Amino acid sequence: MSRLTGAGEQRGAEVIDEQGDTVPLPVVPPTEDKPEPPPGSPSLPPFGPIVRKVALGLAVCLVAGAAYAGLRQIADAPADPNAPVITGQTPQTSTTPDEAAEGVRRAAAGEAVLQKMATAVDDDSRSGFLATIDPKASAFRVSARTIFANLGKLPLATFQLRYVSDDPAALTPDRQTELGGTASWLAQVEVSWQLKGYDAKPARETIPVTFVTRDGTTYAASFSERFVAGQRRPIWMLGAIDVAKGDHSLVISLDGEADAESYVSVTDRAVDSVSDVWGDNWRRKVVVYLPATQAQMEYVLGAQPNTYTQIAAVTMAELDTPQAGAPVRIVANPKLFDELGRQGRRIVLTHETTHVASTATASPVPLWLAEGFADYVAFTAVPVQDESAAKELFKAIRAGKVPSTLPTPEAFAASSTELPQAYESAWLACRLISEREGQSKLVKFYRTVHLSKSPTGLADAFRTVLGMTEQEFVVEWQKYLKRLAGV
Ligand SMILES: [Zn+2]
Repeated sequence: MSRLTGAGEQRGAEVIDEQGDTVPLPVVPPTEDKPEPPPGSPSLPPFGPIVRKVALGLAVCLVAGAAYAGLRQIADAPADPNAPVITGQTPQTSTTPDEAAEGVRRAAAGEAVLQKMATAVDDDSRSGFLATIDPKASAFRVSARTIFANLGKLPLATFQLRYVSDDPAALTPDRQTELGGTASWLAQVEVSWQLKGYDAKPARETIPVTFVTRDGTTYAASFSERFVAGQRRPIWMLGAIDVAKGDHSLVISLDGEADAESYVSVTDRAVDSVSDVWGDNWRRKVVVYLPATQAQMEYVLGAQPNTYTQIAAVTMAELDTPQAGAPVRIVANPKLFDELGRQGRRIVLTHETTHVASTATASPVPLWLAEGFADYVAFTAVPVQDESAAKELFKAIRAGKVPSTLPTPEAFAASSTELPQAYESAWLACRLISEREGQSKLVKFYRTVHLSKSPTGLADAFRTVLGMTEQEFVVEWQKYLKRLAGV
């Protein structure tokens, strides 16, 4: 998608995926509900990635819209889309009475295992938790110990597991033979978990759980069988985590080498920088994930392999379905984030934290305003010379290419050839508003558009807050850009 240049500084990147239908976004058809494509076949990224070059080198940004639609289908569908849906509550009429009764029996047995598991987590009972794990699944027992230890490190307010559906045909006969027992099957299970002091609502993910019944007892035998591409995995399932807590931040790291504490201080600082502009009337709590590998990042995001090789960080709502107050996470790309350096990490985290504070995951603000404002806050906290922060834009303007409109949603698409200019010109649009009218007017303008329920919200905000039309503003902005570029 892009290449790394310059001093190796990267910044910016986010997924905005809760209530994405309110955000004008480049939409890539979600692939989450489809089976894994055969090896070698082309695969679309589940989100429309946005990559851009800025300031000190490469900047990458990613915004996603309709991803939740596909994820929701996971929750509602069996792993195999061609197989019938069977749940404990609503057996499908297309199944025979015997099959339906079997479905109810599986759901009841599986649900009982899940309840024991959740209770063991609540009670901090390691033996209770391990008693639900198949004694013959030796590799999974090792993972289960790690998962239980991880959950103990998290400030969990709630932890719940819910049997959603199952698919008796999902396990091959060979696999069933391998599992042994009198019955084995694969179910989709919704896990919800809420971080105390951070999440207004629980995070929710749907994971595959393999069950096996042997000697009259049903156990969990795997949490990772037949993951569907695009199905997100909770970070605490992916390996041993370190957890570091700051005044405003919680850093959850899968990287034993990373100094989680140092990320706490830079995130706390980002929260203060954002509050300096946005005000204090937000939760002022940020959760940062530090995966150790690219693959772990992709698992957390539910992304196709190698989608995020150029993405420094991503902000996502950790929820399968849209909901106000969804828990939001900033997910760092381990390799690129490490290369950013301290200042670069501060810029990225301030940009992303701006999205968290302004609830960009559930906002009707146009992309130019969301991204421009996030850059405005980041560059206010960590000033960078215009000549480097707006390098590509100035180059274009000096070549006679002055933008004729504010950047369109398409300009923020990964395939956009003018991606750097889109971000740079959006940032300078916000800075112009601040310079002309004062920073508080910029914030008021953003809030007015954000809170608007009307399709003419943007035009109304231009008129009522800034006292001009968008066209009048664009003329001023073009003059401003030309003056800055020295033409
Ligand atoms: Zn952004």
